[in-house]
Amino acid sequence: MRVDLVSEHASPLATLGGVDAGGQNVHVAALAAELVRQGHDVTVHTRRDAPDLPGTVRTAAGYRVVHVDAGPAEPLGKDDLAVFMPQFGRELRRSWLRTGLPDVVHAHFWMSGVAALDAVRGTAVPVVQTFHALGTVKRRHQGDADTSPADRVTTETRVGRRVQRVVATCSDEVAELDRMGVPADRVRVVPCGVDVEHFTPRPAADGTGPAATDRIDPVGSRGRPRYRLLSVGRLVGRKGVDTVIEALPALPDVELVVAGGPPAADLHRDPEAVRLTRLAVRLGVADRLRLLGSVGRAELPDLYRSADVVLACPWYEPFGIVPLEAAASGRPVVGSAVGGLLDTVLPGVTGLLVPPRDPAALAGAVSGLLADPARREALGRAARRRAVDRYAWPAVAAATVDVYLEVAEPATVAAVAR
Ligand code: UDP
Repeated sequence: MRVDLVSEHASPLATLGGVDAGGQNVHVAALAAELVRQGHDVTVHTRRDAPDLPGTVRTAAGYRVVHVDAGPAEPLGKDDLAVFMPQFGRELRRSWLRTGLPDVVHAHFWMSGVAALDAVRGTAVPVVQTFHALGTVKRRHQGDADTSPADRVTTETRVGRRVQRVVATCSDEVAELDRMGVPADRVRVVPCGVDVEHFTPRPAADGTGPAATDRIDPVGSRGRPRYRLLSVGRLVGRKGVDTVIEALPALPDVELVVAGGPPAADLHRDPEAVRLTRLAVRLGVADRLRLLGSVGRAELPDLYRSADVVLACPWYEPFGIVPLEAAASGRPVVGSAVGGLLDTVLPGVTGLLVPPRDPAALAGAVSGLLADPARREALGRAARRRAVDRYAWPAVAAATVDVYLEVAEPATVAAVAR
């Protein structure tokens, strides 16, 4: 099947950890790679954000990335991109004049849906939509701090009602889509996946792979606190790293390692890094907080394995790939009882869930786990098993293809069946 993925702001080739580069980039890259592995022909269309990017990049995984001219060829915040979607849609359509029409378009994020629906006008090409995040939820939690375009919620609703299928990534999103009036019979639930061969409980047998832990004090070195808590994610307020810092005074002998944000050398001018550091100083825990900045994919598995407990304490979370990466690494997660974590973390089985923005509840849950190594081990083992059983990419991509096949032309379905 020929599948075109549209991911306007989140390129699968981007460096991760920045304000707008996280889960969607990882998801699109992994989905594209796995679709290719399963025999499909895949192109990802993403906005050109630098003038020197080639028109098309052929990745090692076998999918193409097309850099689409839509707005100035420079980095722009995703909240400033909506006005360029008509141009994105036109360029997408123009590219199909050269390559022929795809069998299905899978749009990621609401703006990609706008561009995709524009581009398929007058054709029979179906559009499948994954929102990754919903404007209604963001508005509810961020209020006036939400910088999304004013018409995001109405446009998102229109996209949800016009596309052939919406792929929700968790049960919480299904309820939100229902409240938005997206017809339930067009919604399918397929979670995000995780690379269970990259993220494993043990390092590669041949000992290859750089150790992220080398960049900070190696385990067991003198003066290092006994336990390591790890947080991984874009360095934005809603990820709730401040809640974890507020829990640290009640967690002696614990260090908090935080991966995410700009490269380490630029952390001193990152507003969120500065805010978190000031908070840690005020609470007297700055010597136990280590901000690493952006950490590469190759380094992350060692980093996860170096943690006793992985924390994911967002105010809200549309899905949350980090808890899955932790689970695949055999590490227990203590997370907020919100959004996708309600599906991905089984309290008492693979980790623990606490209310968001509640440092006391978080400290209580973490100290209980730190006091009980056997329990940590058991939760980690169950987490790994569940990640492999439910969230490995081959099965997640196959479930996504099943959604494509529901809406593809009969000739395409027959060809895929052959
Ligand atoms: N990530 C990374 N390096 C970093 C910070 C984050 O590779 O320094 C990755 C992280 O491993 C995960 C993704 O970015 O794969 C974040 O996805 P998640 O769904 O947890 O959060 P989102 O970014 O979608 O809010």
